Amino acid sequence: MPPRARPDPAARGTAQRVLEALRHQGPTTRADLVARTGLSRASVSAALSDLLDRGFVVETGESAPVGPAGGRRPGVIRLGPRAGLAVGVDVGRRHLRAIVADLGHEVLAEVAEPTDPGQDSGLVLDRAERMVDQALSGLGFRLRDVVGVGLGIPAPIDQSTGRINAPSILPEWAGVLPGSELAARLGRPVVVDNDANLGALAEFMWGAGRGSSTMAYVKVATGIGGGLIINGRLFRGAAGTSGEVGHVTVDEHAGVCRCGNRGCLDVVAGGNALVATVRRTHPGITQLEELVHGARDGDPACLRIVTDAGSHIGMALGSLVNLINPERVVIGGDLGRAGEILLEPMRLALRRAAIAPAVTAARVVVGELGDRSEALGAVAVVLREPDMVSWP
Ligand SMILES: [Zn+2]
Repeated sequence: MPPRARPDPAARGTAQRVLEALRHQGPTTRADLVARTGLSRASVSAALSDLLDRGFVVETGESAPVGPAGGRRPGVIRLGPRAGLAVGVDVGRRHLRAIVADLGHEVLAEVAEPTDPGQDSGLVLDRAERMVDQALSGLGFRLRDVVGVGLGIPAPIDQSTGRINAPSILPEWAGVLPGSELAARLGRPVVVDNDANLGALAEFMWGAGRGSSTMAYVKVATGIGGGLIINGRLFRGAAGTSGEVGHVTVDEHAGVCRCGNRGCLDVVAGGNALVATVRRTHPGITQLEELVHGARDGDPACLRIVTDAGSHIGMALGSLVNLINPERVVIGGDLGRAGEILLEPMRLALRRAAIAPAVTAARVVVGELGDRSEALGAVAVVLREPDMVSWP
C-alpha cells in the first residue's frame, strides 16, 4: 500500500486534533491533551464536552481521591467504541490471532487458532476474515465500525509495494500482496508489517518497552526476528528489513540459513535450530517451549542449549547496541520465557561485544506481552498510523 500524504496539521479542526491525540496516546488527562495538542485549556474543554455529548469520548476516574493530602485525581479521558474500532491480525507460522480493540486502546475481543505451517496464503487469509467477522458480531459491531486493520506477517515487508521482501523466508506467500488481499476480503483499509516490527511497537506502547524512546526488540520463536523503535517511532528501513538481527553472521562455520547466507544467528540460536540440537539427547522434545521448560527444571542439556543461545544472541546484539544505542532491549518469543537463564549469558556476551557506555545504557529485559505481542502491535499500528481515520 503506498504511503499516504499527511495533511497540514494546522488545517485540522480543534476536535480533530483532540481526537488524533487520544487515538495516538490512549487514556490520558485533560492537562496532557493540552500539552500534546498545543491548544488552550478552554479549547480542549470545549472540544471534549462536544465529543463527550456525541459519545466518541468517555471520561472516568473523576472523583478518586489521590495522595495523603487528598485532592482529586484528574479525570481520565479516552476514546470509546463509538469513535471506531481497530483490528489486529497476526499470521504466525503455527497460529492465527485476531484482536478487536476500540480507539481508546482497550481490547474488546481476542481469538486465536492453531494453523499448519506451510498452509496456502489464501486459505489463511480466508480464516482471518472469518475470525474477524465472528469477533465483531460477537461484540455487536460490524466491519463498517472498523477504521483500520493491522496485519502482521512473519517476513520483511517492503512498505513501498506491500510485498514480502524475502520470499525464501516465507515461500508459500511469494508474490502475494497480503495487505491488499485482506483489504479486499474485509472491505477496510489494511496496514501490513513484519510481525517482529509489530511486536516491537506493542512492547514499546504497552509492555516492557514503556517509557523508553529507543528500543530494540528481539523475538526468538521458530526463527529470530527483530524490530527497532527509534525516537519513539517504528524504524522500518529502506526495504523493511531493519532490526533483522536473526540474520547477523555469528559463525561463518555454521550451516546455511534460509536467507541464503551462512552462519546467521537464526541458524545457531533460532527455535528450529535449538530444538534440532536438543533432540539428539531428548528425542521427545518437539517444541521450543518444552526445551525452555527443561532448562527451567534444571536439565543440564537444556540449560546448556539455552545459555549458549543467550551468548550467541548477546554477541549479535553487540553490533546493534553499538550502532543504535538503545535504552531498552526487549526479548520476546518462547525463548524469552527462560528469563534469567537466557538473559544472564546474553548480558555477558553483550558486554564483550559492545562499548561500555552503550551496554550500561541498554537495559535487557523479557517482553511482557507474550503470544499476544504481534496481534497487539497490529492494533497499535492502526492507532499510530497517521491519517488512518477520517473523523465524522
Ligand atoms: Zn540468515
